[in-house]
Amino acid sequence: MVKENCGVVGIFSSEGVNVIPMLIDSLRALQHRGQEAWGIAIPHKSPLKKIGLVSSYASDFKKISEDYSSFAAIGHVRYSTIGKSELFNAQPLKVKDLCIAHNGTISNVDELSNMVGGCSFTPQNASDTLVVAERLVSLISENGKLVDALSILKNEMVGSYCFTFLTDEPSVFAARDPRGFRPLVLGEKKDGATHIIASESSALSAIGAELKRDVTPGELIKFSKNGIETEMFSKEVSRAHCSFEFTYFAHPSSKMEGTNIYVSRKRIGRYLAKKFPIKDADLVIPVPDSARPAALGYAQELGVQFDEGLLKDRYSKKGPLRSFIEPHQIDRIEINRWIIPIREIIENKHVIVVDDSLVRGTSSRAIIKALRKAGARKISLVITYPPIKFPCYAGIDFPSQEELATYIDNNNYTDEQIIEKVRNDIGADFLGYNDPENLANAIGIPIDSMCFTCATGNYSSLGIKPEFKTREEMKGV
Ligand code: SF4
Repeated sequence: MVKENCGVVGIFSSEGVNVIPMLIDSLRALQHRGQEAWGIAIPHKSPLKKIGLVSSYASDFKKISEDYSSFAAIGHVRYSTIGKSELFNAQPLKVKDLCIAHNGTISNVDELSNMVGGCSFTPQNASDTLVVAERLVSLISENGKLVDALSILKNEMVGSYCFTFLTDEPSVFAARDPRGFRPLVLGEKKDGATHIIASESSALSAIGAELKRDVTPGELIKFSKNGIETEMFSKEVSRAHCSFEFTYFAHPSSKMEGTNIYVSRKRIGRYLAKKFPIKDADLVIPVPDSARPAALGYAQELGVQFDEGLLKDRYSKKGPLRSFIEPHQIDRIEINRWIIPIREIIENKHVIVVDDSLVRGTSSRAIIKALRKAGARKISLVITYPPIKFPCYAGIDFPSQEELATYIDNNNYTDEQIIEKVRNDIGADFLGYNDPENLANAIGIPIDSMCFTCATGNYSSLGIKPEFKTREEMKGV
């Protein structure tokens, strides 16, 4: 079964302007949310899907913009949380005249597939997005309106979802799940005639659109010739915004729930320095790229010099990519090989290395080894995210417990013992993790409005008690 995190976009021009060049630019601005595949959909045509980065097809953009010329379109960049990385899993998907692009994970998809003839899905073609689309189309045919279909479907689905939809009418729709796990924002071009919905405001900036607001959890927005219409398909008031978006996933230029991600990360670093005031350090360095603002905040709060002791080799094939969202371990290792220590900066120093998360330990182990080889005298690693101990069923790719660095054969260990085990595994002299309260305070969102399930194991915001599976079982590989 295939499940996704990813980035989604929907654009509509009420003046009939071809929005495809803007759609491509906005997908490029969401590339950090998915590097495996991308796609676009316009009315009355099968979606166009491609493997790899959007920018790899730059020489085709002109032709794509002409062949798919449309004033209404949706798009998608893919990062698989579950399932193989193949073209047929790329999105948008089309079922009857409904195209759909999805950011999130539906975790009760087997149950849902039984409502739409589960036996028609094979392990190769099944995806949570496809099952949702099939169910949605059947609910629309029974109930007439998308908002009514969603208000039924929300009670049947367990998981996180931001959708963009496209109909042949033509209209563009967008919906955000009732708890707001994943981000979704609304924007408008200065001309007042082009409207955009996207996973992050970085996609709005890329086309010169202004951020209007976050889409409210439980809201359905429609763009059509009649302008913008909005309806609620859920009255849920409690929130569970993904805390991992703020430390790692989102683009630093984006604004989410009223907070700029760069500013928020810098503040996270400051709060972390108060938690771990390591006074005898010579230098604070970030693991490039997402930890840079936090390392800067940490160094400023501590009054210790900030420098770049690690550089990403942007000229290597995999160097510019993000290692965590690569689906295969071999690719993650390849990316980490191209994080290069600068001996002249770190030799004989006690270095505080700031990183945004420690998931599998692959990056941390490789980086610490490289820093030691380059002469670091002492290495303290501080992590802006709490220890990740539980799988995410809401859209981020740490699906099995056993692949997490914190995993020990059973759960009867204290946090101190787990941290000591990880410290030993990665070879750091000191390891300090953030905690949910400190992180929520730094972000500036009440802790009970955020999701910390992967740190706490409390799945109540999803309403499930999962039985943990192995990565192979989850991936179907
Ligand atoms: S479990 Fe963790 S990664 Fe998943 S949505 Fe919650 S905070 Fe985000």
